[in-house]
Amino acid sequence: MANKILVTGGAGYIGSHTAVELINSGYEITIVDDLSNSKESAIAGIEKITGQKVEFVKLDLRDYDALKELFANNKFDAIIHFAASKAVGESMQIPLHYYRNNIQCLLNLLELMDEYNVPNMAFSSSCTVYGQPDQLPVTEQTPFKPAESTYGNTKKINEDILRDAARSNEKYQLIALRYFNPVGAHETAEIGELPLGVPNNLIPFVTQTAAGIREQLSIFGDDYGTPDGTAVRDYIHVVDLAKAHVIAVDRLLGKKNKANYEFFNLGTGKGSSVLEVVNTFERVNDLKLNYKIVDRRAGDVEQTYADTTLANEELGWKAELGLDEMMKSAWAWQQKLN
Ligand code: UDP
Repeated sequence: MANKILVTGGAGYIGSHTAVELINSGYEITIVDDLSNSKESAIAGIEKITGQKVEFVKLDLRDYDALKELFANNKFDAIIHFAASKAVGESMQIPLHYYRNNIQCLLNLLELMDEYNVPNMAFSSSCTVYGQPDQLPVTEQTPFKPAESTYGNTKKINEDILRDAARSNEKYQLIALRYFNPVGAHETAEIGELPLGVPNNLIPFVTQTAAGIREQLSIFGDDYGTPDGTAVRDYIHVVDLAKAHVIAVDRLLGKKNKANYEFFNLGTGKGSSVLEVVNTFERVNDLKLNYKIVDRRAGDVEQTYADTTLANEELGWKAELGLDEMMKSAWAWQQKLN
């Protein structure tokens, strides 16, 4: 019998891509999602790509009784926990909602994992836990700086909870995956990112500008201490990221993990500037983007990129897709949305 994975937030951007890779690797999955920041059409997209029916339960993980019923009625082998509120700006306006949602969901899951004997979890973390790092590239040992946002702080607190839970109870087998900047979409353009309202993130803003939904892209600052003056990030293709989750689950189920709490950076190890991203987008899609340089955005880090040695060596995982594929697939997805 296939191992069964509970994917929380599986209708979301990274969750839906991971669901596809899990199914393609022979896992059975159940997706739970409250659809607060995603659409059920993502489930249809997953089904179309994989040709398989997906079990979907609309559920808010804060609802302990409903979640308990799900655990009582299913035998999960592992959980991948994506479900969370994730907008940096919004997290500064409604911090209590972010703390309650992102922390209570994890606590409910960990309690039920203990009660129902489901030891394994891969957790969706973020490079925001490092704050503004002093050294580059960022390794897993780079000290955490104070979080720049409430959102970032919830991820840091989530990691504290995982570490303490693992330390207190050797039954737990937990892996946190710290993503750098996930972008791009599935090559079929059946699933992708669905930002609500005006996007904050660079790539959705770029694709919406190219589609004529936004008039102009603002590039936030060209006076940073980087080669072309624009800020540098480690953009990683969402499909590469999705594959890393399958490897993390394989590792837990195969008992290949070396400690009962592990954490890994997931990036390409290569930094790209905003202008490089824009130029690549224009070149691979053969179009011109309307943009202007404006002031720096408050709270932005000058540059960050991952040291991925640990994930390369321990997980045997390496990002395979480059900026060209990221920009091509992001545009193909945007065109499908129009
Ligand atoms: N950025 C930009 N214009 C935008 C959105 C983002 O110039 O409309 C820049 C931003 O300043 C940062 C990079 O693009 O340097 C990536 O931003 P994003 O919000 O996607 O991710 P972050 O790394 O800030 O989480």
